[in-house]
Amino acid sequence: MKVCKFGGTSMATAESIRQIETIIQSDSQRKYVVVSAPGKRFKGDTKVTDLLYAANAEKEQFGIAGDSIEEIRERFVALANELNLELDMDCYIDKVEEGINCAKTADFAASRGEYLAAILLAEKLGYRFIDAADIIKFKVDGTFDADSTNDLVKELKSIATGIVIPGFYGSLPDNTIKTFSRGGSDITGAIIARGVGATVYENWTDVNGFMITDPTIVKDSKQMEVLSYEELRELSYMGASVLHPDSIFPIKEDGIPINIRNTFEPENKGTLIIADTSEYPKASVVTGIAGRKGNTTISLKKAMMNSELGFGRRVLSVLERYGISFEHMPTGIDTMSIVITEKGLNGIEQAVINDIKNKVAPDNIEVIHSLALIAVVGHGMANQMGTAAKIFAALYEAGINVRMIDQGSSEMNIIIGVEEKDYENAIKAIYYAFFG
Ligand code: ASP
Repeated sequence: MKVCKFGGTSMATAESIRQIETIIQSDSQRKYVVVSAPGKRFKGDTKVTDLLYAANAEKEQFGIAGDSIEEIRERFVALANELNLELDMDCYIDKVEEGINCAKTADFAASRGEYLAAILLAEKLGYRFIDAADIIKFKVDGTFDADSTNDLVKELKSIATGIVIPGFYGSLPDNTIKTFSRGGSDITGAIIARGVGATVYENWTDVNGFMITDPTIVKDSKQMEVLSYEELRELSYMGASVLHPDSIFPIKEDGIPINIRNTFEPENKGTLIIADTSEYPKASVVTGIAGRKGNTTISLKKAMMNSELGFGRRVLSVLERYGISFEHMPTGIDTMSIVITEKGLNGIEQAVINDIKNKVAPDNIEVIHSLALIAVVGHGMANQMGTAAKIFAALYEAGINVRMIDQGSSEMNIIIGVEEKDYENAIKAIYYAFFG
């Protein structure tokens, strides 16, 4: 059986919902459906989830949710009408409005987009609606309760009909609603896939899959046909945003493949994400190139650092005290650099620097702002000579100065730091070096 998760753009219009129906009806294996709230219908439009957060903010400011609720009402009522559904959407929206107005949480408000979308889609497909609050469980401390959830999800297998489940949320032990982070319906899909033992987790979105690199930078970037869970983790952490980076955790152990598919181009095979890609022919040792701007590097130098016991620990304890998690930490014999997101250092940079100075008395401490990180990812790189040489030759030829290099110990990943002004050109140079 297959689990199909449909994203916000797939739920945005009556036409796209009809398209979902065609996809579901074309394969009887597509029994479990997870949905996002309706997303943007056009450039500049607002996602229903954002309208719901706005409605909650209105309630907090004025004591009552206002315009945003009316906008949500219009959208859902129009969808139900255009799809000729006999659903009293007004009545459902009244209940949502009531819930928001009677001081439920922001998570409750945000979750209602998925809730309403699932009710609507279940009606359209003739599938049964199952509320995520009944099967996706969080612990008292707010962390996801994988074991209880899995036991509850397993029970879905005894239901004979198709099922539609809202993504993005679940419930705490006291039954209040709790959401995952933004884009979290992808995680719900993965959880359901694990629980029902799906043969594949199809993640239907509005692109054909993962592109080898950001298509807004390399317009003709090719599509990845297959990549591994680990490669996905590296690439999505570094900014490739097709799938929520936490989506692989629930299904990794059971080796359930994820297939990214395009609702608007269903004949495209999309991108397949599996545990082991070694059997698949590869066009290049590099699987993908991703990156992001907005990083700061703190570089420390101290003579004999290599033999000073506890140096690294003391530096990292400063970061821990300020609640900063670092991105990378390339080290030399007497040097240590820590890469941190600019956001992570916002407002506390000077305090952190002073504290590090106090703790380890470096000979020199340098802070480099506006660093862009680029990850070149691919399992094949480990046993292929010359990959790094090719990357750096391409950057040299493009006149790009490399500020930092870090190779993960798994050798499936080379991280390069360049100045933000060079970011786009660096991505292009590396892409064309490998994919011509
Ligand atoms: N609707 C939520 C969001 O916009 C969750 C999701 O779409 O996955 O973040």
